[in-house]
Amino acid sequence: MSQSRSVSTLPATQADDAARRAARRRPAHIAQVLSYTLDAAILWLYSLIGVTSSAICIAYLGAGLATTGTALWMSERHLSDRAKDQYLTLPLCVASTTVQLVALTLAPEVGFYFIALLFVILGFGALRMSARETAMVWTYATVGMAALFLLTNIPIAMPMDGVGERALVLACFVTALGRCASTGLYGSSMREMLYRRSNDLKRANARIEELAQLDELTGALNRRYIMKCLNDEIARIQRGAPECCVAIIDLDHFKHINDRFGHPIGDEVLRTFAISIFANIRTTDRLGRQGGEEFLLVLPGTAVDQAMRTLDRLRGQISELNWPAIAPDLTLSISAGVSPIRASDSAEDVLARADRALYSAKDGGRDRVNVAA
Ligand code: GH3
Ligand code: MG
Ligand code: MG
Repeated sequence: MSQSRSVSTLPATQADDAARRAARRRPAHIAQVLSYTLDAAILWLYSLIGVTSSAICIAYLGAGLATTGTALWMSERHLSDRAKDQYLTLPLCVASTTVQLVALTLAPEVGFYFIALLFVILGFGALRMSARETAMVWTYATVGMAALFLLTNIPIAMPMDGVGERALVLACFVTALGRCASTGLYGSSMREMLYRRSNDLKRANARIEELAQLDELTGALNRRYIMKCLNDEIARIQRGAPECCVAIIDLDHFKHINDRFGHPIGDEVLRTFAISIFANIRTTDRLGRQGGEEFLLVLPGTAVDQAMRTLDRLRGQISELNWPAIAPDLTLSISAGVSPIRASDSAEDVLARADRALYSAKDGGRDRVNVAA
């Protein structure tokens, strides 16, 4: 049952991802279609006042829509998903540059307009292309223009007779300028989005790091991390830091609690124990789960008598918790072995002493705190 559900949801998830990607690409492709439509409209106005032929306008619109429409169609059909650059920027830039160079050849009377559009194309393309691809498109445009400028006598111009022609030249350049500005804005929005994503990523990494330090069940530090804390404290003591104590805390007769009330209740007891300890220690103290129902408490800047008092207070607080709220007749006591860290100690030395103290507390009848001899 669960298998058939996971199989059927997988393609749905992939389809959702593909739809999201297509939706992200859509505005860029539509902007390109609209850009060609705007150019064609200006060329149509030029044909109305007799500067260019209407055939130029139709051919330009056809070529533009074929180029950008194909890219939009490929995007919507998810055919561009497999490309390294899903926006197909390089092929689109090459195709659009070709359209401008051909238009420049066929309608040199408004030639500077197509040259201005080359700025728009390369400026937009450079946002997504690599330096090598951008250089390739620039070289292609340069070679094309050099051929037209140097190898032909085509009179590249912009008609400036009368207010109508001057107004259209103005329209050509301000619309090209507007598109350059939009390209810049698009670039800055991409930068902002990258900044936001990198912040999200930093937060997620910090959370992962935090989780990697914690014991899943109790939220106490895990064994690896509490051992690191212990070793750090030993190093600090060796550098002359004030005294530090450690305590191994073990829940009494925990096997009996599990056997009588069940494992889930046992887990709840472990969680409640850890929460209660957290609530009653200093922020500089560190609680870690060594394994099973055994915890290690590291108390920096704490002398032995102070540590004894702290552990005895914790012992009292734990035994007075409202355990019957978890299960009727449930009670819990803890035993602890306390040991100071000495400058000559390894982690094993301190733990061995604290462990001996703990077991003498168990031998002494449990529900007590003993200090290492
Ligand atoms: P003592 O007072 O001598 O410490 O006796 P004890 O029963 O507490 O000690 P023992 O080592 O005999 O038993 C520990 C029990 O803790 C056995 C094990 O099943 C249980 N335990 C270990 N890890 C977990 C856990 O994650 N959840 C639960 N519910 N029980 C656990
Ligand atoms: Mg125990
Ligand atoms: Mg134990």
